[in-house]
Amino acid sequence: MNQYDALIVGGRAAGGSLALLLARQGRNVLVADRDEFPSDTMSTHFMNLAAVGSLKRLGVLEDILAAGFRRVTRHRSWVGDCCFEGPAGPPGTFSLCPRRVVLDSVLMDHAVKAGAQFEHRTRVEGLINDGERIEGAVLQTAGGERREVRARIVIGADGRSSKVAEWVGAEEYDAVPALRPAYYGYFHGIEPRPEATLELMFGGDQIAFLFPMREGEDCIAIEIQPEDFEEFRSDHAAAFDSRLRRLPEMARRMKNAHLEGKIMGVKGIDNYFRRPYGPGWALTGDAGYLKDPSTGSGIGDAVDVSFMLAKALGEWFDGADWEPTMSAFHQKRDEVMKPMYAGTLAFTRMRDVGPAEEALLKAIFMSPGTIRGLAYSMLASLPTLLSPAEAGRTQFISKMFAAPAEATKS
Ligand SMILES: Cc1cc2nc3c(=O)[nH]c(=O)nc-3n(C[C@H](O)[C@H](O)[C@H](O)COP(=O)(O)OP(=O)(O)OC[C@H]3O[C@@H](n4cnc5c(N)ncnc54)[C@H](O)[C@@H]3O)c2cc1C
Repeated sequence: MNQYDALIVGGRAAGGSLALLLARQGRNVLVADRDEFPSDTMSTHFMNLAAVGSLKRLGVLEDILAAGFRRVTRHRSWVGDCCFEGPAGPPGTFSLCPRRVVLDSVLMDHAVKAGAQFEHRTRVEGLINDGERIEGAVLQTAGGERREVRARIVIGADGRSSKVAEWVGAEEYDAVPALRPAYYGYFHGIEPRPEATLELMFGGDQIAFLFPMREGEDCIAIEIQPEDFEEFRSDHAAAFDSRLRRLPEMARRMKNAHLEGKIMGVKGIDNYFRRPYGPGWALTGDAGYLKDPSTGSGIGDAVDVSFMLAKALGEWFDGADWEPTMSAFHQKRDEVMKPMYAGTLAFTRMRDVGPAEEALLKAIFMSPGTIRGLAYSMLASLPTLLSPAEAGRTQFISKMFAAPAEATKS
């Protein structure tokens, strides 16, 4: 007999939001995570305004803001020492860099308040399979207690090294191997900007990111090229520091900064989609769809896929047929996520503009008349610059600017 409607493996962005949504439907949900909560996980925490809108829809935004995270209202990009700047979104909206120790715990606290059960320090060791479908899983607590749990569905929200995906043999497609190593650290004392501003700095074939978190607390990240990985591997703290100091704006702002803890990093993140369902199982978050972190959209996408999955599972729990319901979920996930996937791959693959082009850029920036002309010609050439999906997204965002959005106002 089933003890639970749903057993969710992993309790962070994907698992926490799914647990919250299913518990609010009145389902009987158990979440198991091997980590001790509250705890941080590897992330630079950026959430764009659409992702902030998703937190609002979940009803958790106020609790996250209460932890002191700054509303990021400006975005700017540096190419060498040329700076492009604009609003993060329409008036009243903002992006956010909530530290995961806060975000993931707030999600799980809300899920538990809504009725979900949560066991941290509990590892899922394997699945129970009756030969036709997954029926449950074997759990082991940190204290060594092992037990079997039965559920109508087992959901892998267990991240980019998903064991659930491996155990069920979820088919991978559109896969692209890891493109760039990424390193990051938390800093105190970076010279702040009056309005919290997300900053990207391109130069030396690397991308540096400055993510404003709380007053006096920022996250700095860098994506390098694969051929530079050896330099980082031998002494990544020193390599990180010397790379950042080559960027004039970063060097200036970091003058009085000090690092909290260690520099962390990965050799690269694979990119893939996986079939997200099968008999008795489903996948959400990085377990089912993974990409390079350069576009800072993994957390928001994980939450959005959990919204789609919660809706599909809700229909199935209420009597809809499994196959058409889950196939529609699969199709919708891919339709919604593929433009960002393509955009992330293109952005991550892009190399620097060369010194001659950078000199030209500086010449353009010296002349307001040329800038204005450039703005017009950029707009005129948009249809040829952008794929149909990107053009659609850009049109959608431009409508939000024309009519200020309500999505993330608070
Ligand atoms: C360096 C780096 C920087 C990033 N920066 C950003 C960013 O700025 N913005 C952004 O949106 N995204 C970023 N991402 C991506 C983002 O972190 C992920 O997309 C997001 O965490 C996915 O959430 P998830 O819940 O699917 O998986 P995770 O956050 O990985 O959570 C999975 C959970 O499952 C648990 N688990 C795994 N196996 C088991 C098991 N067998 N039993 C029990 N529990 C298990 C783990 O303990 C973990 O808590 C970054 C990623 C990296 C690596």
